Amino acid sequence: MRMVDLIRKKRDGSALSEAEIRWMIAAYTAGEIPDYQMAAFTMATVFRSMTGAETAVLTDAMMRSGDTVDLSDFGTYSVDKHSTGGVGDKTTLIVAPLVASLGGKLAKMSGRGLGHTGGTVDKLEAIPGFRTTLTAEEFRKQVHDVGVAVVGQSGNLTPADKKLYALRDVTATVDSIPLIASSVMSKKLAAGSKSIVLDVKVGSGAFMKTLQDARTLAETMVGIGKAWGRNVTAVLSNMDEPLGFCIGNALEVEEAVDILQGKGCPDLRELCLALSAEMLALVHGWSAAEAAERAAEALDSGAAFRTVEAWITAQGGDLGRLYDRRARYVREVRMPADRGYVVKIDAQKIGETARVLGAGRAKKEDVIEPTAGVRLVHKTGSAVQAGDVLATLYTNRPEALEQAEQMLLAAYTFGSKPPEKQPLVYGVIR
Ligand code: URA
Repeated sequence: MRMVDLIRKKRDGSALSEAEIRWMIAAYTAGEIPDYQMAAFTMATVFRSMTGAETAVLTDAMMRSGDTVDLSDFGTYSVDKHSTGGVGDKTTLIVAPLVASLGGKLAKMSGRGLGHTGGTVDKLEAIPGFRTTLTAEEFRKQVHDVGVAVVGQSGNLTPADKKLYALRDVTATVDSIPLIASSVMSKKLAAGSKSIVLDVKVGSGAFMKTLQDARTLAETMVGIGKAWGRNVTAVLSNMDEPLGFCIGNALEVEEAVDILQGKGCPDLRELCLALSAEMLALVHGWSAAEAAERAAEALDSGAAFRTVEAWITAQGGDLGRLYDRRARYVREVRMPADRGYVVKIDAQKIGETARVLGAGRAKKEDVIEPTAGVRLVHKTGSAVQAGDVLATLYTNRPEALEQAEQMLLAAYTFGSKPPEKQPLVYGVIR
């Protein structure tokens, strides 16, 4: 087979055969297909999409490109969550210990930031001492003893996705339903959990900009999971503005700890409780009402906080030292004129502001600054007056501050009336 023929076939709108997809993934993983040809193929897929059958084969081929994890010794308690990527999305840091405190077993492999969105592994690495690599034995023992372990995607788990994900990030080919569905589900299936809750983000800061596209993506992923015998639920959640107040790795860890201590942003708490309840319902078979009640109790009683401490300590991290490191340059961005209410905050623009400050990558080899980021003071619906602080910027790159301030101001839209409140969760697909 020749890759050029498969690119042409996809470019012209035809479906690839199972044999063609399997050959392509095997050859790309083995380094026999160059990145420029794979980039042409992914771009053709962005425009031409894939059939359900192509997406299922692509998922299977990527899942089998490396090792798969067997979590059958955790029975029905193994549970995973995955977000399709948002701005300020630190839900894993809250949901994982919360669900573990109620008996869930989370053996999680997480990714790094992609595009303007952050990655859980980058956030965890902002905690001094935290190790995102564990031996297979350490990983399993920690899941058994603490209930949760989170590591970076290992070299051998879905290597095809690892290569493709990095390539798509730098070739503007992330936002394609079949490519996202196969990327997410190949990793989730290979990682072995019996139950999976998907947080499918919709809105200006998400890869899926419309509810319709998000629903199609969610249904595709739930369908793939079911076909492989897993319990899968997808929550469609709002990503029109950043989640919570903080965007940037160490800032987000601080905010997650706040929620686990009963403080913090109400939208973040609400989404974490909704995701946790779905996970607990799958693990224990609890009704939606019981799962929601137990999740709130675990947060309010401090049980989830005690589990986060045990988890971070088990992986070598020191939460107490999180506050030792601070960005050297801090700038408050003020409201330029009296314009009434915040009616919109473009999440993608805020994500890009955080990236310019050093919190994300423009190229895959870029190094992240853990302390860089944005802390929002006013979110949608707030009344603001001239001179009020809208947000605070943190960086070690003083030369980035001017541009970041302009980007942040451009992300805000003001109006004379408060906007209608948008739902945080649009629906659940079970
Ligand atoms: N998250 C993933 O794991 N893969 C994608 O392609 C997009 C978001």
